[in-house]
Amino acid sequence: MRRTFPTKEKGMSRRDFVRGLSLSGAALGASSLLPCAPGGFGIREAEGQAEEQIKTKAVDVDLNKPYVHPTPAKLYKIEEDKAIRCQICARNCHLPNNKTCFCRTHINRDGKLYTTAWANPCILQPDPVEQGPLYHMALRDGVRAMYVATGGCMLRCQYCQNYQISQEAPMDVTMLGTDWGPKKVVEYTLKAHETIPSLKGIPVNCIAYSYSDPVAFYEYFTAIAKEAKKVKKRKLINIMVSSGYIRPDALKATLPYVDAYVFTFKGWTEEFYEKICSAKPGPVMESMKIVKEAGKWLEIPILIVPSYNDREEYVKNMVKWVHDNLGENTPLHFAALMPKWKMSNVPRTPVTLLEDCRNWGLEAGLKFVYLLNIPGHDGNNTWCPKCGSCVVRRIGVKCMSVMVDKRGRCMKCKTKIPGIWNPNV
Ligand code: SF4
Ligand code: SF4
Repeated sequence: MRRTFPTKEKGMSRRDFVRGLSLSGAALGASSLLPCAPGGFGIREAEGQAEEQIKTKAVDVDLNKPYVHPTPAKLYKIEEDKAIRCQICARNCHLPNNKTCFCRTHINRDGKLYTTAWANPCILQPDPVEQGPLYHMALRDGVRAMYVATGGCMLRCQYCQNYQISQEAPMDVTMLGTDWGPKKVVEYTLKAHETIPSLKGIPVNCIAYSYSDPVAFYEYFTAIAKEAKKVKKRKLINIMVSSGYIRPDALKATLPYVDAYVFTFKGWTEEFYEKICSAKPGPVMESMKIVKEAGKWLEIPILIVPSYNDREEYVKNMVKWVHDNLGENTPLHFAALMPKWKMSNVPRTPVTLLEDCRNWGLEAGLKFVYLLNIPGHDGNNTWCPKCGSCVVRRIGVKCMSVMVDKRGRCMKCKTKIPGIWNPNV
């Protein structure tokens, strides 16, 4: 049975929220929890709030704890007085000695960088792969991904759907224990169809790093992804769901292990990125190009906020940029606003506005433009660009029918539908 989780503003504590997410082993309603990006906005409230200062504070952390892990040396530089310049995300934090950082997952202790996200997930649960959103990875109906998250994020999106975990340090949302090393996560995934009753024997063939941003738990996520690739008896697919706010070298290091990427394109203007997300669009666009040039599968959600990032000119610029730089086969997902966190007072995005956005995407030449969060809408389905037949019919995140053959072709006209349609590809 699907469950939905009330938000904190309806009286649920962060701890209850996280417990609900992490311990169920059951599929969540897509309308209540969406990976990383498509959440809710409350625009006017947020104005003036978004420029959160980087706060660093000394914290007492026992470096012998299992969840504290030294990071690989190549991901940071040592500066004067044992200060560290982190090289993981585009924020490029300067951490004085004995200080934490913006993403709340890293600590400088005596000139060495540690992560507190290691083996310390707050979410470990199977959900449909479509929830990514990944619509071109229907590895046959009913296949699930194991979603993994820890506390922490490098952004401060004012509408964050999952702020109860993304805006907390990993040790503050520890609910599953701190011994979930990479091997244990992979073993849990491989046995999930036997140990989690709600799966009813359906195997989990993917691991999706999502809900908060895997860049914040970079060391942990890449270690799990590498471990997953060692499995011989079954092919496990790694999926990175992120803001894409990562430095090029750190992203390139994931390419040998990650099969599919979902990078959110939050808005067209610098102002929107800076005021609403405390980030910049440039590194995100660069990340998308790196992934695409490497030949990896990429899908892009765009959350449309009425009266904020919905200007026709902005949306048309975004779809044109995607078309021109990433190609006509890159799926776009326009998502409706679900008001949350500091932006809880803005109404949902009208369906007509999302339909306009979808039409602008199709008019720009993109072949696969979807609408999220509107169950039953034709924009949920995948349509063959040649014969126009419905090759994947969905209701929400549930695949009702898949008319793509094992070679990834439309069953009616044999046109190739881009994506990863077979786990053994
Ligand atoms: S990037 Fe971080 S803050 Fe923004 S929506 Fe994703 S998890 Fe939330
Ligand atoms: S991952 Fe990003 S936010 Fe976190 S310490 Fe490194 S540069 Fe700063």
